[in-house]
Amino acid sequence: MEEHDSDWPLIGICSRPSDTNADESVFSTAYADAVQDAGGIPIALPFGFEVASIASKIISRIDGLLLTGGGDITPDGFGGNIYAKHCVAKIAFMSAERDVFEWAAVRAAWDRDIPCLGICRGLQVMNVSFGGTLVRDAMERGATIMHWQQDRRFEPVHDVWLSRDSHLARIMGTDILHVNSIHHQAISTPASEARIVGRASDGVPEAIEFPNKHFFMGVQWHPEMLGTMPQIFEAFVNACRSEAKARATS
Ligand code: MN
Repeated sequence: MEEHDSDWPLIGICSRPSDTNADESVFSTAYADAVQDAGGIPIALPFGFEVASIASKIISRIDGLLLTGGGDITPDGFGGNIYAKHCVAKIAFMSAERDVFEWAAVRAAWDRDIPCLGICRGLQVMNVSFGGTLVRDAMERGATIMHWQQDRRFEPVHDVWLSRDSHLARIMGTDILHVNSIHHQAISTPASEARIVGRASDGVPEAIEFPNKHFFMGVQWHPEMLGTMPQIFEAFVNACRSEAKARATS
C-alpha cells in the first residue's frame, strides 16, 4: 500500500525549561527519535502562561500528546492539593509556567479523546490532572528499592509487574518488564478514572491506564532512553493515526 504523508500523525512533545534559563523551552531528542521511529511526526510544544491560553487550539491541530519527563510539580499546580498530606520531602526544578500549559493541554486532549502517552513526570501529570495525588518522594509510600538512577540511565535497574489484562501487557506481549528508574516521586492515590496496571516489587506504581479513553497511558520509567520498548511508541502512534482518520471521516 502506498504511504501518504497523512499516514504520519503529528505528535506534540511537551518541553521543559532549560536548566540554565527558565525562559528556554527544551526537550530531549530521544523522544522525537522514538516518535519518528514509530511512524509519527514529532513537533515541539512550548510552555508558558500565554501559550496555555491556547492549549486547546494546539491540541485540536495535533493527533497525539506526549507528556515528557522533568522537574517536580508545583504544590499549587494542577488545581492544588496534589501532594499527599503526610509528605514533607524536598522538591525541586519546579515550573509554574510548565504546569499550567500541561494542565490545559492534557485536559484538552482528554476532552477530544486525543491519544496521550505520559512518561515519568508525564504519568504524574496525567494522574494529578484528573484528581489523583502524589508523594513527594517514593520513600513516603514505602519504596524499598532504588528508584533514582544516577548514571547509565539507558540500563534497566528494576522490574515492573503488569496486570495481565492491561493494554500495556497486550502491547508488550509479557507481564514483566525490565525498566530504568529516574524518579523520586510516585503516585499516592490514583485518579478516579485511572487504573494502576504496573508496579515495582516494592509496590510503587509504575504504569497507569485510563480505560475510558482510546489511548491514555502513563509509564513511570523512560522507554525512550532504554530503546528496548519500541512497541509502546508504535502502539501510541498507531492510536494517533487511527484517531486522526476517524476524526477526518466523521
Ligand atoms: Mn521506578
